[in-house]
Amino acid sequence: MTDNKPQLAIYDNNCATNDPCAICGQRTDPEVGPELFLAGTWQLVCYDCGRQYDPELMAQLQTERQEFYNELAASWGKVAPQVKLVD
Ligand SMILES: [Zn+2]
Repeated sequence: MTDNKPQLAIYDNNCATNDPCAICGQRTDPEVGPELFLAGTWQLVCYDCGRQYDPELMAQLQTERQEFYNELAASWGKVAPQVKLVD
C-alpha cells in the first residue's frame, strides 16, 4: 500500500476528448456520461487504473453508467446492455 495513490473521481464527461490515461498512458475510449478522471481535473483515467487504485469508485461508476445507459435505452424503447466494469 502506498500513500500517494492517485485520487480518482467520477465526472459527467461532456467534452468528448480522446486523451490517454493520465496515470499509465494507455489509450482510453471515453464515452459521454459518467467517466473516470483524476480528481479535480478533466484528465481521463482508464478502467484498469481505476480497478487498481479505487475499486470502490469503479463499482460506483458501473452503477452510474448502468443508470445512464438505462435512461438512454429507455428513450429509444430499448433495453440497455449490462455494464460490467468490476467483478
Ligand atoms: Zn491507466
